[in-house]
Amino acid sequence: MKASQLFFPTLREVPKEAELTSHQLLVRGGFVRGVAAGVYSYLPLGWRVHEKIAQIVREEANAFGGQELHMPVLVPKELLDETGRSGVPVLFALKDRNQRDFFLGFTHEEVVTDIVRSSVNSWKHMPLYLYQIQTKERDEPRPRGGLIRGREFTMFDGYSFDSNEADLDRIYRANYRAYENVFRRCGLEYLAVEADPGAIGGSENHEFMVLTDSGEDTVLRCDSCDYAANAERAEVPASSSGPCVGELLGSYTVSTPGAHTIDEVCALMNVGPGSLIKTIICLAGGKPMAALVRGDRELNLPKFARLVQAKQVDLADAATVVRVTGAPVGFAGPVGLAEAVPIYADNELNDGNTYIVGANENDAHAVNVAAGRDYAVTAWGDIRTAVAGDACPRCANGHLTEARGIEVGHIFKLGTKYSSDMNAQFQNEMGQKLPIIMGCYGLGVSRTMAAAVEAHNDANGIAWPISIAPFEVAIIVAASKDETQQSAGAELYRALKAAGVDALFDDREDRTGVKFKDMELIGVPIQVIVGKGLAEGLVELGLRGQARESVPVGDAARAVTDLVAGERAKLARLEQPWT
Ligand code: ATP
Ligand code: MG
Repeated sequence: MKASQLFFPTLREVPKEAELTSHQLLVRGGFVRGVAAGVYSYLPLGWRVHEKIAQIVREEANAFGGQELHMPVLVPKELLDETGRSGVPVLFALKDRNQRDFFLGFTHEEVVTDIVRSSVNSWKHMPLYLYQIQTKERDEPRPRGGLIRGREFTMFDGYSFDSNEADLDRIYRANYRAYENVFRRCGLEYLAVEADPGAIGGSENHEFMVLTDSGEDTVLRCDSCDYAANAERAEVPASSSGPCVGELLGSYTVSTPGAHTIDEVCALMNVGPGSLIKTIICLAGGKPMAALVRGDRELNLPKFARLVQAKQVDLADAATVVRVTGAPVGFAGPVGLAEAVPIYADNELNDGNTYIVGANENDAHAVNVAAGRDYAVTAWGDIRTAVAGDACPRCANGHLTEARGIEVGHIFKLGTKYSSDMNAQFQNEMGQKLPIIMGCYGLGVSRTMAAAVEAHNDANGIAWPISIAPFEVAIIVAASKDETQQSAGAELYRALKAAGVDALFDDREDRTGVKFKDMELIGVPIQVIVGKGLAEGLVELGLRGQARESVPVGDAARAVTDLVAGERAKLARLEQPWT
């Protein structure tokens, strides 16, 4: 491609609305343009990057036997009614001219299961892995960071169909390895972490995180074994200290006027938050219950829901809190609740110590309160959110450390949830009818593009890994009016193209400084300068942002091709044993 013919409107100014670096650089570099909140056009440069990532994903999915199909964006409501997902809040809904209800596809489990149930009915038809790379629509409450969280975005979504758990496991491993290869080939440092299975329930699932400080997810990983989990999901091992056998001081009530929050109580009583218990009134299926965690901890609602075996648990509204505690909000405690509700306590509180708790009275707290003696615990469990420094739940010596990540992929053993809801059955070897065992596998193509920019940028622009750069090499002609330079540049460009190198020939009639700035901004990883040195038969060659060396113009094509090959080879894939 010749830069003189390329449409890439670069901007010198940082766009006002763009907070994240990737958003700023993708707009400034002429990769994307905003159309509405969370909705973007890809300009030619952006589309080149997008398609390079999509192609890598496609190759890795094909490598383990995935088959590409393409499903519609328009999805009839009846299909989502079958699984109860027509009420999902992020759905964009619309009606056709006959007032029939449709949604814009936000993920395609129902559509693909509908295809499969009509044609797959024997164990002999499986394993089957179908995938697409398609535009998804979600009315996200907080579209953010340009392509990171869009309302329209591109997702790779794969779906597996199996007749037995072993095959599901195999395809899950294959997909896991494919994702590792995608992120390696895209030059991204990633971490696969255990994630919250959400409403679908217990099965194995992993999120793939690109580690960067700007990530909105917190991940915790062990400093001594390979345990890693989303902080929302990470387990906290039950503490080994049993109930205290020593004598406990008697409890009493103190006046704490106006101290509703942990901080206010701490300030008033001159203690740390670790001396307090937070009593949180929750509702599960309309039933009130109390959850206790230490004052410096956060209650983890998904964990709590699992402990009480509820689909979902919510924080109770103020009226319920007042009714259950018999006190204004802010003074809840486990002793003397107005309503006898079950009390669930975090394992950590099972340490034999006494704590300060709300007294279920306006402006009062109780001191020296002991579980067992002063109140009964219905059940202990792991219900707080893990934090850095916690002991590892898998190994004996490790502790968890914290990192920030961007979730770029999520893979999931679905089991039979969708096939049961949608009656997608097959006959096994014994002639029994059983629901098909499914898995689903999502990878954000557009989010990966933004994550790559978050991970690879500097003051001058984007430092794309070569595999997904809009071009691999930029040939910059310094003096655009100099015929000899132009023709040497053009010749090198032709030679590189013939050698299969994706080159951009910057033949524009602009100042050299402008061309340099543009090439740095759009992040072409290898630069060749055809300038003054040509008089001595030399051109300059180097990696973006690094020192350049002079090479004889006659050797330039060879030298560039070698450099390209070297850079490409750094992004090698792992073996895929699950083909
Ligand atoms: P998140 O937790 O970030 O909202 P999710 O769990 O809803 O994502 P999935 O349904 O698992 O996302 O989607 C699979 C993949 O699609 C995600 O891992 C992510 O890479 C991508 N993705 C999801 N939502 C968006 C979005 N709004 N914009 C861009 N990419 C997205
Ligand atoms: Mg997810």
